[in-house]
Amino acid sequence: MKHTHSEEYLPEDLESCIAELKNDRLYQSAAEQIENLLKFDYETKIAALEEIDITDVFIDNIPSRIERGELIADFTRLKVQESFLSNRFSEFCKIIVKEKNEKVESLIPAVQSGEIDFSLLQSALVNRGDYLSILQREFGIEPLLLISLFVNIYRPIFEAAVELSGKTFDLSQWKKSWCPFCGSFPCMSRLEKDTGKRYLWCMRCNSEWHFKRLKCPFCGEEDTKNLDYFYLDDGSPYRVDVCRSCNAYLKTVDEKKGASGKVLFLVEDIKTTYLDLLAVKEGFHKKVKGYEQ
Ligand SMILES: [Zn+2]
Ligand SMILES: [Zn+2]
Repeated sequence: MKHTHSEEYLPEDLESCIAELKNDRLYQSAAEQIENLLKFDYETKIAALEEIDITDVFIDNIPSRIERGELIADFTRLKVQESFLSNRFSEFCKIIVKEKNEKVESLIPAVQSGEIDFSLLQSALVNRGDYLSILQREFGIEPLLLISLFVNIYRPIFEAAVELSGKTFDLSQWKKSWCPFCGSFPCMSRLEKDTGKRYLWCMRCNSEWHFKRLKCPFCGEEDTKNLDYFYLDDGSPYRVDVCRSCNAYLKTVDEKKGASGKVLFLVEDIKTTYLDLLAVKEGFHKKVKGYEQ
């Protein structure tokens, strides 16, 4: 237990991932940002385990809900103290302060004064209501940046909720393209090393589930004429899957071409920022809102 309160402590797999990045000249410059984010994420999750109340978050009859394609959690019912969220927000702003952004900084006093309604925000992050667009208009922050800001604060909290449920969720029968827990569209995917099966990843609650390989998760297109992918370098494990029907893209890690070990999507997402820029330049866009109630 001696490491519990040390800020330097991270689980071994995360520590070795950071060490690897620092030794890789391609990612050296991003290593510090990734390290800070992983630490923030881990510390927030550990703290959230003690902080949150998950009563009524997980609905009964989970296996049949999974089979029917109904969400198995309702994160709008998750109770989190406002002081905890406001503290996490300030801490998060400290680690992104390097990329100085006045508009983001204008959110800090708004959070501290209680002007930001966290319960509306929490609902918006699981695709209920349009509070994010209201904030976006009010503060003039670019939508994807605004979402990623709050997603980074809530992801470890949602993850802690799943862990606190004490349940194991068998998602093998889940067929939808949105996240079974929070209903969001996937942010990335991976192709499993041995089977080639595709797994989609939800950035908002860090869950993953199996999905058909040749089907667009955003519009359901299955005509392979409209499904394509591109990459920068043949030897790289990273590629971008694109759909010409809805013009959405999804970054993918092909484990066959990658290093061994579990894919840490949070890290892979930052490592592949150049692919987001490229995809947008090619006329594709990221779809973030999934299932809505
Ligand atoms: Zn999710
Ligand atoms: Zn599509």
